[in-house]
Amino acid sequence: MDLKATSKRLFSYISPYKSGLILGIVCFFSSAAIEPLVPALLKQLLDHGFQADLGFPLWLVPIAVIGLFAARGLLAFSGTYLFNWSTSQAVLRLRTDLVGSVMRADASLYTQLSPGVAASRVINDPQNATGALAGALTTLLRDGTTLLALLGYLFYLNWKLTLVSLITMPLLGMVVRIVHKRVLAVGGRSYESQIRLVGIVDDITRAWRVVRTFDAAEFEQRRFAEEAQRLRRMTLKSIAAAATMTPLTQIVASTGVALILTLALIEANRSGTSVGEFVAFITAMLMTISPMRHLTDVTQPILNGLIGARACFALMDTPAEPDSGTIELSPGQCRGDLRFERVTVTYPGSEHKALNQLELEIPAGKTVALVGPSGSGKTTIVNAMLGFVAPTEGRITLDGIDVTEIRKASLRRQFAVVSQDIVLFDGPLADNVAYAAPKDMARIEACLKAANLWDFVQSQPEGLNMTIGTNGSRLSGGQRQRLAIARALYKQARIWVFDEATSALDSESERIVQQSIEQWHGEKTLILIAHRLSTVRNADCIYVMSDGRVVESGTHKELMERGGLYAGMVAAQAME
Ligand code: ADP
Ligand code: MG
Repeated sequence: MDLKATSKRLFSYISPYKSGLILGIVCFFSSAAIEPLVPALLKQLLDHGFQADLGFPLWLVPIAVIGLFAARGLLAFSGTYLFNWSTSQAVLRLRTDLVGSVMRADASLYTQLSPGVAASRVINDPQNATGALAGALTTLLRDGTTLLALLGYLFYLNWKLTLVSLITMPLLGMVVRIVHKRVLAVGGRSYESQIRLVGIVDDITRAWRVVRTFDAAEFEQRRFAEEAQRLRRMTLKSIAAAATMTPLTQIVASTGVALILTLALIEANRSGTSVGEFVAFITAMLMTISPMRHLTDVTQPILNGLIGARACFALMDTPAEPDSGTIELSPGQCRGDLRFERVTVTYPGSEHKALNQLELEIPAGKTVALVGPSGSGKTTIVNAMLGFVAPTEGRITLDGIDVTEIRKASLRRQFAVVSQDIVLFDGPLADNVAYAAPKDMARIEACLKAANLWDFVQSQPEGLNMTIGTNGSRLSGGQRQRLAIARALYKQARIWVFDEATSALDSESERIVQQSIEQWHGEKTLILIAHRLSTVRNADCIYVMSDGRVVESGTHKELMERGGLYAGMVAAQAME
């Protein structure tokens, strides 16, 4: 997207609130217009106040002074308030639209966008861009009108000379264009550098433990310093480029002035123009330089704001997750009968088949276990069921309906998943159990008991209201897993998926959790992915995966009798 389209789009965010903007600017102007009234009042007082006949009552004097200052203050305040009311509205809309896009975006976005960069783009860029644009608008109005007024006066004084002075305009335009181009190029690089810097800070705060255990503080410090140095250089370059604008335009303008001066002198000699007229013309001419300078000086903030806005809109335009489904399933409506028919999955940007012609049958109400070496495609099965990755071949059905025909949101509502990498939300523990759902205290307690976390909660001084820190950083690995299990249990879904969900638990805790899950046997479809094979012994069917395929399946007993891969894995684990 070019900058013209960017500014147009940015303006579409401000324009609904432009009345506030304009009113604010009017207030600024009026406040400025009152300023000369103060010296005017003083003059009046000095001229007449010391004479016997004042011409007006004395008490008016303090009232007028206070009144003038009060009016000026009130206008300045209203101007600031109105102006920022408009821009803050625009920023709010931009931010909410951006977050909406991020939330709907296709999974591929998250492989490229780091959390810090996303935060910066959603929070800082809209503010900078809108601020720059609104500021530029003020300058444009203030200095633009001054310039126009001065030009009008010049035309009135001597239109021929004024026309001659306009010769320099194309030249000025050219200078502005060249400088713009340079500022834009450097500004773009400086923005990218800034984003990389955000990424580094994001890394080192998220991975602070790793950084310290690897004794990598110096390494990270250097990495940061290098990028920060690059940003500093880029910022300076961009400022330098923008700062050439003023001297360059002044040189061009001075050529014009020199030309006019000469011409005006010649003409004055010829036609006898008065000295007063001549001086007035030259003064007005010189006075145009200041507003012109202001107008060209807005370049850098505007361009920088637009560069940020362009990145915002690029983020806003990231394609949404494709959702071809039309069938709507209400929560708990499905039976929970899952089938994979010759499903092949390759992740975008990868050649490897994560699932290869996979056949899988997960009947409603049954407990099915998926086992196999890491990288064999177990998690991919879950991702494919939930529609996070689309099969390149074959189809997945839920109750006989192709899952691509079910609206994604309603499909996902049928599942409660405890994934391998636990993600929790900062805030009270209870809110994490009843995530994005109404809080039912009795059910929260029941779920925490089932997940064997209730004793821990009771041992906490704040109980259910304890804050768990960013991503549950104040909990142990096992506690985080149990909290995630409680959260999944709280969700009323037909199909439960536990992807190595008890890997961090001690065997006692694991046994308790397993018992609570097994209570639901027959009622829910249960998919257990487990590393510790002892935990899947009671499953109705165990699928042994290898390299994206099912290589063995059956009950624990059948598989043991067969003496294949599964029996070997069991034996190996028994040795440990
Ligand atoms: P498991 O859960 O059995 O350990 P996964 O299903 O996570 O295995 O991974 C199966 C294969 O898919 C692996 O070879 C892995 O490298 C690949 N894979 C997993 N996720 C992605 C991804 N987002 N992009 C590309 N390849 C992936
Ligand atoms: Mg996995």
